[in-house]
Amino acid sequence: MNVRSTRSAHEVPLAVAIARGQAPDGGLYMPPELPPHRGAWGDDLCEQAQTLLAPIFAGDELAGALPAILTEAFTFDAPTRWIDDATGLLELFHGPTAAFKDFGARFLAACLARLEAAHSRRNGDTTVLVATSGDTGAAVAAAFHGRARFRVVVLYPDGRVSPRQAHQLGAFGDNVTTFRVAGTFDDCQRLVKEAFAERELSRRHRLTSANSISIGRLLPQMAYYARAALQSVASGRGAPNFVVPTGNLGNAFACLLAKERGLPIGRVVLATNRNRVLPDFLATGSYEPRESLATLANAMDVGAPSNLERLRQRFAEPSQVVEADWVDDASIRSTVVQTLDTTGQVVCPHTACGLAVLRRLRTRGAGGTWIVAATAHPAKFETVIEPLIGRPIPVPPALAAVLARPSHATALSPSLQALAAQLG
Ligand SMILES: *Cc1c(COP(=O)(O)O)cnc(C)c1O
Repeated sequence: MNVRSTRSAHEVPLAVAIARGQAPDGGLYMPPELPPHRGAWGDDLCEQAQTLLAPIFAGDELAGALPAILTEAFTFDAPTRWIDDATGLLELFHGPTAAFKDFGARFLAACLARLEAAHSRRNGDTTVLVATSGDTGAAVAAAFHGRARFRVVVLYPDGRVSPRQAHQLGAFGDNVTTFRVAGTFDDCQRLVKEAFAERELSRRHRLTSANSISIGRLLPQMAYYARAALQSVASGRGAPNFVVPTGNLGNAFACLLAKERGLPIGRVVLATNRNRVLPDFLATGSYEPRESLATLANAMDVGAPSNLERLRQRFAEPSQVVEADWVDDASIRSTVVQTLDTTGQVVCPHTACGLAVLRRLRTRGAGGTWIVAATAHPAKFETVIEPLIGRPIPVPPALAAVLARPSHATALSPSLQALAAQLG
């Protein structure tokens, strides 16, 4: 199927959109509108993803490979853990870098590897240039690490990611180069945009993006909402509502697409930290990007959410399809403690934003089944969480393996000139 940019009626095949990341007009590629699916969805994550994505991939050069891409990418599950009768945590952190971004990054890498093999022009490696607020960079680096014909360049805001995130970002080596940028995540994101806009630079390095604007990351994220919603229904809890901790709106937009495809999903609520641009936009209808503020939920420290362009383009009245609320650091802290006390679960600061927003919704009378997307493993944010709970958090094996490796990141000033010089 063809997809089109948010900024023009120009259409390209899906494979082209996946390879490019961003549309040449500066817009974001949008999946076509699809009628709701009727009938069986399949029994596991891969089957459900196949059902969701097959019509979007129909006729595309990647269509035949879709089952193999899914099997290669989704080697871990997305289970829902019920912490009480009506509240689930959708655990999205069982991948190699312990955050939900593993799903999208691994799917994208599996797609790009096939496209690269099919279209090899033998004129140098493709450079995957990625800005990260903490978790994207590691997921993308892990997904492309050791893959022939790819180089990964990661930009992260120095001092604004957790110590373990920083270690993880610099621990890959080989075909992965990591820069710590003297600036904010928004500076990193701006650098990536500028690099793409610089035609010569972009061509020389065969730049491709792997940020959350990439449609190759967006689409596969629908799968775990399918898994959770169908499990909720099968367990007798009915169609769930979702709270999605949100920064750039990539994860939550996938939830909206999953709902559009006909999955049993009720309300979709965005939970942000003090970077409250999205709640303010939905409340007032006016979009006011701001400088990002540093919070305990650092992967959501976004002042100009890039996927908002998709939301506004697809829905005439965004406030009719999605709600939003925000919480401060004090609320993140108290929610971590309270969740442990009442459920025995240790959650990451981002997941805590979601749970805090859910508690407020319930105080205001919201009933029914709610699932909060648990976007990362708490062990990635041990410097925030361990002092609150007073005990160490066991580190999942994949994360422990990365943390055991040496780590290096090169300092970079936030200018295109500096980046261009480093790219060579
Ligand atoms: C990236 C990230 C988010 C925000 O996801 P978006 O798709 O940018 O909204 C939330 N939590 C964690 C742990 C993340 O890594």
